[in-house]
Amino acid sequence: MSRTPERWFPPEEFYCDALCTRCGVCCGATDGHPCEHLRRDADGRHFCAIYADRFGPHRTVDGQRFECVSIRRVIEWTGGYAGCGYVREIRRLRRTMGQDDSDLGRRPTP
Ligand code: SF4
Ligand code: SF4
Repeated sequence: MSRTPERWFPPEEFYCDALCTRCGVCCGATDGHPCEHLRRDADGRHFCAIYADRFGPHRTVDGQRFECVSIRRVIEWTGGYAGCGYVREIRRLRRTMGQDDSDLGRRPTP
C-alpha cells in the first residue's frame, strides 16, 4: 500500500514572535496596499498597531477590504512567503527530518 505523506507543520507554540523579522510583507508592506494598521518603529521594523485584536476584517490604506488571519494559517494554506522567518525555519526543520519542503515559500516577496 502506498499513500501520499502528510506535510508536516509545527504546532501553535512554534509561532513565537522571536522568529518574525517584522518585514511586514504579510501585512502588505511591499505590495503597495498595506494594512491601515501597519506601522514602523524608529528602527524601520514593522508592527501592528492593534496586535492583540488583529484577527478579522480590516482595510488597506487605499480602502480594500480583507481578512487578517494568523501567519500559521497563511503558511499552512499557501506555503507562505519565501523570506518569512517562520517559513525559513519550517523549511529547515523539514529538511532536518528528511522531508520535502517544496510546498513552502512559493510566494515571492511582492
Ligand atoms: S491587522 Fe493584521 S494585516 Fe493589519 S497590520 Fe495588523 S497583523 Fe497586519
Ligand atoms: S512575513 Fe513572516 S517574518 Fe515577515 S512580518 Fe510576516 S510573519 Fe513576520
